[in-house]
Amino acid sequence: MTNASPAPIILAFRSGVTAMGIDASAALSDPGVRLAVSAAAEIAPEEIAGEEVAFESVRFEGEVRGSPDSARVEGTLRCEARARCALCLGEASLPIEARIDEVFSRDAKGTDAYPLDGDVIEPVEMFREALILALPMRFLCKDDCLGLCPKCGSNRNEGECACPRGDEPD
Ligand SMILES: [Zn+2]
Ligand SMILES: [Zn+2]
Repeated sequence: MTNASPAPIILAFRSGVTAMGIDASAALSDPGVRLAVSAAAEIAPEEIAGEEVAFESVRFEGEVRGSPDSARVEGTLRCEARARCALCLGEASLPIEARIDEVFSRDAKGTDAYPLDGDVIEPVEMFREALILALPMRFLCKDDCLGLCPKCGSNRNEGECACPRGDEPD
């Protein structure tokens, strides 16, 4: 990877994000610093269109660069999202990947930036919004899920029911 800024200092940071946030003081005090961030986060389940979506194993890998007034967070956020299958109502789990490129600013009012209070970036809201945007329109347990029988409600993935299949819409 090429890098325009001279001799960057790269610091490693690893922690659970929820408890303490990302300490960006090294990046805020020196614009030449690229603060490498590798962090796990806990994101609460979200109700989307009446269905609960859980975010598991949320991990962020990226970096923070700063100025005295703002910090830019770039990287990749990954998680395993779990929800009910839209067809059979069974459990569906999907890997989700979201690109992060956001600014935290001491003067965020009226801008797209997230607020920065002190030297600690609190990324949970940013992570939450990025994951929700990256979710698919619907969850399926598998691409060829057979769904439920519209007559008896049995799960067709678990075998054929006795209902006639002739006259139902596909
Ligand atoms: Zn299914
Ligand atoms: Zn049936």
